Amino acid sequence: MDFNLNEEQLAFKKVLREFVEKEIKPVANQYEKEGIYPTEIVKTMADMGLFGMTIPEEYGGLNVDMVSFALVFEEIARGWMGVAGILGSHSLSCWMIAHHGTQEQKDKYLPDLATGKRRTGIGLTEPDAGTDLQGIRTTARLEGDEYVINGSKTWITNARHADPLPVLVKTDPNASPAHKGMSVILVEAGTPGFEVLKDIGKLGYKGTESCEVVLNNVRVPKENLLGGVEGRGMQQVLSGLETGRVNIAARSVGIAQAAYEAAINYSKERKAFGQPISEFQAIQLKLAEIATNLQAARLMTYWAASKADAGERVDMEAGMAKYFASEVAIMASLEAMRVHGGYGYSTEYVVERLYRDAPLMSIGEGTNDIMKMVIAKSLLSGKTQIG
Ligand SMILES: Cc1cc2nc3c(=O)[nH]c(=O)nc-3n(C[C@H](O)[C@H](O)[C@H](O)COP(=O)(O)OP(=O)(O)OC[C@H]3O[C@@H](n4cnc5c(N)ncnc54)[C@H](O)[C@@H]3O)c2cc1C
Repeated sequence: MDFNLNEEQLAFKKVLREFVEKEIKPVANQYEKEGIYPTEIVKTMADMGLFGMTIPEEYGGLNVDMVSFALVFEEIARGWMGVAGILGSHSLSCWMIAHHGTQEQKDKYLPDLATGKRRTGIGLTEPDAGTDLQGIRTTARLEGDEYVINGSKTWITNARHADPLPVLVKTDPNASPAHKGMSVILVEAGTPGFEVLKDIGKLGYKGTESCEVVLNNVRVPKENLLGGVEGRGMQQVLSGLETGRVNIAARSVGIAQAAYEAAINYSKERKAFGQPISEFQAIQLKLAEIATNLQAARLMTYWAASKADAGERVDMEAGMAKYFASEVAIMASLEAMRVHGGYGYSTEYVVERLYRDAPLMSIGEGTNDIMKMVIAKSLLSGKTQIG
């Protein structure tokens, strides 16, 4: 049993850390306060090939292993979790197109998605259906050689930059069970009737836009049906969400790491009663609690990622990692805030942003209650065993 990153992964982590130290950390606070889109950071991520992480090399992608994939999200979130969001749903949809797309779809989209010339996101959630995706109302009706799509989506991250945006629809609204009538259709930016209505105001996660989208008689060539066969949309999305959950777990580790670093550094600098506050046992207990949970979350995330690398289905492992690591991120950011006293509440210090960014980790890619249900289902099915 070896809990260490291999040489390649260590070298990759070093490059990522240098990038985050040089280009993300210095601007994160200012950009997020002033609502500046991180255009230069996106360019460097593209130059580094990060938009092609889940794309096979034959299409110009990096096709990184899942542990390295986790490292990208961990390191970037250590600098600014919002920026990690730019790569999150992009990578998920690239993975979906690479694994489920037709040859024409792969040839048409993957090379440009790998370089970041094209970018993407994922359109699942609707105003009346998030967890319950089988309850979506967006429909796509085949008319001749085109699908006509009608409906609306909400909370769509990267919506203003996505081209194409994979959208979950009902191609057979009467199917029973409903998932048998669900499909994913690739909608290109600029298609008449496809409109990004507005950016939703958010507590945190401000590096990227999350939007309301409306689809009003949007006509899309039937060749844009992902995989070319109707009724496979739910499976395509669920298999993509597995990688998505590793990404959220890793982002949570990054947030918790940043909280830990902020807390330990501040505790050595801040003096009270004539000594650094790090000398107080009450502060030491918080540091120990943050660090121990952080390390456990990290190991669990790498465990889920390396199991995926071994070619196994990791619904339970990714669910456990996402659930545990996101709760650690929330705890760590709050405890780091306590270590900072009043300054922890100030927008001048990073912990205030970590505290606002962390809760999303317990919601995105399935809420933590849903993660617990996924874990329990896997345990009860007998497919996985603990101990
Ligand atoms: C900042 C942000 C970015 C996002 N980006 C995207 C994106 O890019 N693309 C996209 O498609 N979506 C995106 N989402 C949506 C996100 O995936 C959903 O918010 C999430 O899946 C939960 O769905 P919901 O909000 O409809 O909550 P609901 O499904 O209404 O859940 C409300 C509560 O009920 C609980 N609940 C629901 N069903 C059950 C059940 N069966 N058993 C027990 N408890 C249950 C939930 O756990 C939760 O506590 C984003 C959301 C946010 C906040």
